[in-house]
Amino acid sequence: MTLSSLKVHRHEDWREQLRRAVRSVDELQKWLDLSPEELQGARRAEAAGLPLQITPHYLALCDAKDPGCPIRRQVVPRIEEDREVEGDMVDPLGEVAHELVPGLVQRYPDRALLVTTDQCAIYCRFCTRSRIVGSGEGPLKPAAVDAAIQAIAERPAIRDVILSGGDPLTLATGRLRALVERVRAIPHVEVIRLATRVPVCLPQRVDRELVEALRPSHPIWVMTHFNHPKELTPESARACAMLVDAGFPVMNQSVLLAGVNDDEKTLEALFRGLVRWRVRPYYLLMMDPARGTSHLRTPFAVGIELMERLQGRVSGLALPKLIVDTPGGLGKVPVGPDWVVTRGKGRTTLRTHRGVEVDYIDPPDPSFLPT
Ligand code: SF4
Repeated sequence: MTLSSLKVHRHEDWREQLRRAVRSVDELQKWLDLSPEELQGARRAEAAGLPLQITPHYLALCDAKDPGCPIRRQVVPRIEEDREVEGDMVDPLGEVAHELVPGLVQRYPDRALLVTTDQCAIYCRFCTRSRIVGSGEGPLKPAAVDAAIQAIAERPAIRDVILSGGDPLTLATGRLRALVERVRAIPHVEVIRLATRVPVCLPQRVDRELVEALRPSHPIWVMTHFNHPKELTPESARACAMLVDAGFPVMNQSVLLAGVNDDEKTLEALFRGLVRWRVRPYYLLMMDPARGTSHLRTPFAVGIELMERLQGRVSGLALPKLIVDTPGGLGKVPVGPDWVVTRGKGRTTLRTHRGVEVDYIDPPDPSFLPT
């Protein structure tokens, strides 16, 4: 049974969705039969660390009875968040070490990421930035915004600015528009990206006012984050269609999560559904080893095997790249099954998804061709 039948999500106004978000254990218990592991985890989250917050829209997707529900696993804290394992990191992407000025991170020569706020619509239990999100700081302070804009302006190599957080779409529309306009005014910035889970968990936020405020600053790409086909709701379909129709390319970055989407049928349904919405499955990310998330991580081999099974089964349009964002912030590495059997001089033997081996012959060296 999902909670949609109880109509917990019927608030059309996004501010009302945020106001009515579940933030306490007592509220959560009204809607879900919490397991002992969830109850302890929720009490811990209420006291410290990454807070508990679930919009009515997202809560309505939860199975009230089943702690293994893939939506619940993403947002309901569990006591395993207390567990420390080898490889855990507080800042898996080395963002502190790559900070140019407070809130502005540069890990690649041509890109910079601006942490616009610590606020999100929901707090995902696998968040790579759990060290800062939901800390109560709110939007980046005006002086910090000024410093970040100046730092971008002083670095002509930066062509692509990612507004992230927290979730930039939780900012008031006027504040977000002003920020986007300042970034757009920097001549060498070619592309602006909005990294947001709002189309998934607060789709009511994507409204005419937002779209009209941002579209003059195109090209703006929206990088969103659907992880499971249950998230493909009519409300989210409307939000994505509105963005795409208004000229915002929408790309999806899924995280591979244990007990959520680590099987091929779930991923296939998710990727096919996104393509039907004109949303490109862009990355499937091996989870960052953020502290307290080991119960949601999958072994590396699982990611490779899933990609192997999906290859040939879904079209390239629906097949994202499998990515490891290397711990320490040293950059993303695309990984996948090895389709090359042998590589010889002028001849490479490939394995197809059917298991057949086929030779690919290089063209002759031009210097040996008859003239
Ligand atoms: S919406 Fe993004 S930044 Fe916010 S908690 Fe979820 S993953 Fe982290």
